[in-house]
Amino acid sequence: MDLFKTYFEKNMTAIIDDKKILQELENASKDQAKVKEVLAKGRELKGLSLSEVAVLSNINDPDLVQELFETANHVKEEIYGNRLVIFAPLYISNLCSNECSYCAFRAGNQAINRRVLTQEEIAEETRILVESGHKRVLMVAGEAYPKQGFDYVLDSIDTIYSVQDEHGGSIRRINVNVAPLTVDEFKQLKDKKIGTYQIFQETYHREVYSKVHLRGKKADFDWRVTAIDRAMEAGIDDCGVGVLFGLAEWKYEILALMQHIYYLEDKFGVGPHTISVPRMEFATGSDISEHPPAEVSDEDFLKIVAILRIAVPYTGIIMSTREGPQLRGRTLDLGVSQISAGSRTNPGGYAVDHEDMSQFSLGDHRSLDEVIRDIAQKGYIPSFCTGCYRLGRTGEDFMDLAKPGLIKQHCGPNAASSFMEFLRDYASPETKKVGMEAMEKFISEMSLKDADTSRKMVDKVMHGKNDIYI
Ligand code: SAM
Ligand code: SF4
Repeated sequence: MDLFKTYFEKNMTAIIDDKKILQELENASKDQAKVKEVLAKGRELKGLSLSEVAVLSNINDPDLVQELFETANHVKEEIYGNRLVIFAPLYISNLCSNECSYCAFRAGNQAINRRVLTQEEIAEETRILVESGHKRVLMVAGEAYPKQGFDYVLDSIDTIYSVQDEHGGSIRRINVNVAPLTVDEFKQLKDKKIGTYQIFQETYHREVYSKVHLRGKKADFDWRVTAIDRAMEAGIDDCGVGVLFGLAEWKYEILALMQHIYYLEDKFGVGPHTISVPRMEFATGSDISEHPPAEVSDEDFLKIVAILRIAVPYTGIIMSTREGPQLRGRTLDLGVSQISAGSRTNPGGYAVDHEDMSQFSLGDHRSLDEVIRDIAQKGYIPSFCTGCYRLGRTGEDFMDLAKPGLIKQHCGPNAASSFMEFLRDYASPETKKVGMEAMEKFISEMSLKDADTSRKMVDKVMHGKNDIYI
């Protein structure tokens, strides 16, 4: 047992160095010239060091904030262009044995009804998502499974992949957000062909962590912060990290998050595939969710997205429907590359929306069709592409293509053909019109070679072919 403890303590020093974070924040230069120097380095798309992230987190001057946003927008344009990956969460159960004080699913909360979806119900939820046009889901569950145990999660993945609608549409990539697993369980998850394994540390501040995780397995900070190590050991090399903003000071959190990222890059040769930036929302039966101890203002939230975009240029940033349409819209220009749309956070919520089973309140209630129309009108191209992971371009292989800018020649055409599938089978007439115009503009701005590839792929889709990707 002691050996086990020492192992974790050793690992922990290697992952989060609390003293260094505080030192960096304290010593970070506020000098305008230094800030400009860091922003200039950010424009080179090589990422930033911990001290440089600390410098950016101290920006307050409105002109420098504007420069920060412009730099983030430049990085976003260079790497992601105007593509936006679309997904929906799929909650399969709200049973949980933990006591996270901010979450409505916490074990002691009597104020919500509990529901564990059967495989038939999961198939029904999937069918509704597929019939609205979705191709990617994020499967979510609390940390307590019915009598089948972890097999429940594995079976649910099979169920989701098995559903097909009348157009031949199906979910082609399942990302998974469940509690930390053992290496052996992660191997089983990998065998089910999941996309990304996502886990948010919630807060990297150890003391705050222990104050809000009162009981259950999740109370163990170390078990959680080493989850990605075990996932990687099991061969899952697309992993997603995140912080639940509102628990501890945001500047501390982003420096700690960066330490976690450097640690993963150093140990496994590849950092996280995605970063999520959930901000705490009201949750039934949670006092803390009404008064987050370190509430993040909208302005600071935008800074967080911008700083992360510059600091880790090749890692996707995910924005959920926790945020309202207006703020979500602003984060797109700063570097968000994936958004959820038409979401429900209660198990069974796509069939019947029971608010009394939800995990937290949503800020964006629009349907997928409405979200797609809105983002296409703003000049973005919604992408339902799932090509990379199905062709094995994951982890280091993905980064090897992304860093020299080679991934673009796949992403552009794949975004176009997958968006065309949506427009052909699922869009309302209004969305179809807006979408076709956006598509034409998108392709016309590509290089001649990519435009030619895209037109051929789109043409195949228009002639009834599905799932065309390169
Ligand atoms: N139960 C697993 C866990 O905790 O890792 C997996 C899924 S949990 C349902 C998904 C995420 O929801 C948590 O990691 C947390 O960041 C987020 N969450 C919980 N309560 C929230 C709230 N009140 N507002 C916003 N996000 C919340
Ligand atoms: Fe359970 Fe996850 Fe909610 Fe914590 S955040 S109570 S572990 S569902």
